[in-house]
Amino acid sequence: MSFFIFILGLCLGSFLNVLAYRLPRDISFIFPRSRCPHCQEKISSLGLIPLIGYLIQKGKCAYCHKSISLRYPLVELFTGLGCVLLYHWWHHQYPEALFLSSVLFILAIPLSLIDIEYFILPDILTLSFVPIVWAFQAWHHQFLFSLSGSLLGAGILWSLAYIYEKIRHIEGLGMGDVKYMLIIGACLGPTKTLWTLSLASILGSFIGIILTIIQRKRLHEVMLPFGPFLGWAGFICSLIP
Ligand SMILES: [Zn+2]
Repeated sequence: MSFFIFILGLCLGSFLNVLAYRLPRDISFIFPRSRCPHCQEKISSLGLIPLIGYLIQKGKCAYCHKSISLRYPLVELFTGLGCVLLYHWWHHQYPEALFLSSVLFILAIPLSLIDIEYFILPDILTLSFVPIVWAFQAWHHQFLFSLSGSLLGAGILWSLAYIYEKIRHIEGLGMGDVKYMLIIGACLGPTKTLWTLSLASILGSFIGIILTIIQRKRLHEVMLPFGPFLGWAGFICSLIP
């Protein structure tokens, strides 16, 4: 069963790679078939197989022989291993919790990749899933719990963004982060939403301070996307029974 889930996870990771590459570039994520980013040649069927394709081609495009980013096989492997971990974590216990943790895990991967590269969190990956999770929670008699998590998370972040902009006259937090909190709060409910915001702030400050030292800049000069911290803090909090 673990092996089967791992294979499914690898395929899912391959799809998440496509999402993370194509969404910010405004390319349809269904058509056309994947191409080499260097020479635009279509990737062969063998090359499309997750992980194996990369290994067979020795990390190089079959046509132009330029290197394929290690990011693609790493994301596939990470997704595969994450799916196995999630399955065992919630095995036979709470199918609802497995669903909600999976939503946060699957969204955090492409959203982190896109936010680190482009400093955006596309609405299609945040807002579109909010009604689905609310409906799922309502079906399990947890609609108010879910709604209050969304409103609390997004409300706190929106207030902080508003105050920051009033004081410093620059945008500190984007609306993408506020919308991301809608879906995270919908999955977690109010208490874990507060934990998520606290954990994300601690992790973000920690990494921010390290970057100021490495890049020899002042704290407000370091550009750091907040989406990955929110996403992974939310996922970690979702694992707590
Ligand atoms: Zn190529």
